[in-house]
Amino acid sequence: MISQSYISGQWRSGGGGGVAMRDATSGELVATASSDGIDFRGALEYAREAGGAALRELTFHQRAALLRALAKRLVECKEEFYQLSFRTGATQGDAAIDIDGGIGTVFSFAGFGARGLPHSRFLVDGAVEGLSKGGSFVGQHLYVSREGAAVHINAFNFPIWGMLEKLAPAILAGMPVIVKPATATAYLTELAVRRIIDSKILPEGALQLVCGSIGDLFEHLNCQDIVSFTGSASTAARLRTHPAIIRQAVPFIAETDSLNCSILGSDAVPGTPEFDLFVAEVIREMTVKAGQKCTAIRKALVPTRVAGEVLAAMHAALSKIVVGDPRAAGVSMGPLVSQEQRTDVLKSVARLRSEARLVAGDLEHFDLKDADRDRGAFVPPLLLLCNDAKSASAVHEVEAFGPVATVLAYNDTVEAIALARRSGGSLAASVFSADDSLATRIVLGLAPYHGRILVVNRSCAKESTGHGSPLAPLIHGGPGRAGGGEEMGGIRGVLHYMQRTAVQGSPDTITAVSGRWARGARQLDPGRHPFRIPFNELKLGDTCKSADREVTIADIEAFAALTGDNFYAHMSEAEAARNPLFGGRVAHGYFLISAAAGLFVDPDYGPVLGNYGLDELRFVKPVKPGDRIKVRLTCAAKSLRADKGWGEVAWDTEISNQNEETVASYQVLTMVSIHAVPDSVGGK
Ligand code: NAP
Repeated sequence: MISQSYISGQWRSGGGGGVAMRDATSGELVATASSDGIDFRGALEYAREAGGAALRELTFHQRAALLRALAKRLVECKEEFYQLSFRTGATQGDAAIDIDGGIGTVFSFAGFGARGLPHSRFLVDGAVEGLSKGGSFVGQHLYVSREGAAVHINAFNFPIWGMLEKLAPAILAGMPVIVKPATATAYLTELAVRRIIDSKILPEGALQLVCGSIGDLFEHLNCQDIVSFTGSASTAARLRTHPAIIRQAVPFIAETDSLNCSILGSDAVPGTPEFDLFVAEVIREMTVKAGQKCTAIRKALVPTRVAGEVLAAMHAALSKIVVGDPRAAGVSMGPLVSQEQRTDVLKSVARLRSEARLVAGDLEHFDLKDADRDRGAFVPPLLLLCNDAKSASAVHEVEAFGPVATVLAYNDTVEAIALARRSGGSLAASVFSADDSLATRIVLGLAPYHGRILVVNRSCAKESTGHGSPLAPLIHGGPGRAGGGEEMGGIRGVLHYMQRTAVQGSPDTITAVSGRWARGARQLDPGRHPFRIPFNELKLGDTCKSADREVTIADIEAFAALTGDNFYAHMSEAEAARNPLFGGRVAHGYFLISAAAGLFVDPDYGPVLGNYGLDELRFVKPVKPGDRIKVRLTCAAKSLRADKGWGEVAWDTEISNQNEETVASYQVLTMVSIHAVPDSVGGK
């Protein structure tokens, strides 16, 4: 079988014999991959011109809907992926992380897009910045889609998750993707890409696949493209210094290797839940995916005085691990992905053994279930102990990308933090402690050197997602040796694929460009109350100015009686006078916004369906009995929810007093029907 590439709308087999991909357990040939003869310049152009153009036509909500449809389609193909995944050496549980984890990430990004992004093609970033005294010159940041291709180069260990966790944010951002999986497991990525292409859910050109080498693709990159790389630090170093990357300043996101640590807190002595949780987590991280996880725990830092108990508990737990054919019942750990990977791991273990002692696992004698040692890439779980972690170097530098971890003894918390930081930047760390002040010290000590830190104790353990799991809402990446990159993290992950631009001009220009009304821009008189205007007819700037009303002591007391809010600043002249901010009784802020609603709402049945919140509420100046307040309400932003029959409208709102001073400022968030009389509830 040949794993084909999908380039410029066609499945293609490269020339030559291709690189052999073998079953990790039996050594049988699964497929070959070659990209010889592929026109990579053409692939980039196809992505930019066909895929990019089609994606940029869509709004964030439409792209999110594509992702949801895609995730649903992939769920239907799961069984097929699981079967093929065994060939990579993954057990059923390992495959779940890759397959279900990958599909779950696509669902998550579909949700981020639908709920966290507007129904538009670009994103307004932050507030309007005032740049002049008179207010006629302002600035606004915007994010727009980059017009190039997102080139994703992935590691072998997560052939499906690795593709999908990068694909989803790129598609949401409006960028087409060229994915190049690691050759060792490219056949599984190929199967997933085939199912995606067959589904025709994504526009043509939005996804291309390279099985085999990436050829001369880098030569043809331009400043609109982006490269996101996952793999070893050495490959990253080579690629990020490619002349085209430097010449064109192509953004290069790197997720590379990492020596991650887990720290057993000094409070977590034997007999505590945290001690047991730590032992279980280290063993889980060693054996899931046979330790081939970039986030796996490589350094287990334990207080010297409990090191013996930790080793005994880990030894007992490791004795229950069954290594063998991942298809066989009862097998808890499969082989490494390939013989080459096995050779690499054994070399790394030899380096670690120069300063750490093997305390569990035997390279020569280990049992295998339903598998042949000579054919499969098997390595048993190997636990090492380093008693002199301070003077050691290899244990802080050598990543054995397999079922290998080293226990390092530490004397105090300062030393534990120092040892954790010795690996030059890592993806993830974990702390097992029920002492939150100790955990705080460790977290703050580790944070500059780690992309993610998990604190586990008895109260969160049951629901904790574990040390090694990157999650779609949280960033994945780390400084230094971990690559210095960042992925996912909810909408943050989408923004990596977009260009931020600062636009300066008059408030009217900024309103026109950004699609969001800026204070100082024209206020329009729509000739009727804006609450009578359906979503599609409402214009940015449509404004309603209310009549005014006096705020009286009777109002304040009635509001206090109604709500039970008898705070002294509203109720006692003498005590309010002592307050440095008020100098006498003032109205409740919440009364002001309630009274403002009374001033601006149009009470009749109509297109405004409801108010779902307030944003950016600030009480700017106190209102005293006898003051007169009035409200300005301006249509400031609109985002259609087409499938729901309404859109979201944010109203820029200012309450002012008789001296034209702003006393409160906020955004009123409403849902407004597309039609004058909402369909679903009939007319009146
Ligand atoms: P690798 O050898 O660096 O390969 C990574 C990717 O780069 C593969 O797709 C590989 O393709 C490609 N590649 C290699 N040389 C290249 C070149 N000259 N030009 C273009 N592409 C090139 O890493 P690996 O062995 O697959 O993965 C294991 C490493 O990845 C471990 O160190 C692990 O820690 C790290 N990793 C990190 C993360 C993370 O999120 N930080 C996740 C997983 C793994 P070929 O396979 O075709 O050579």
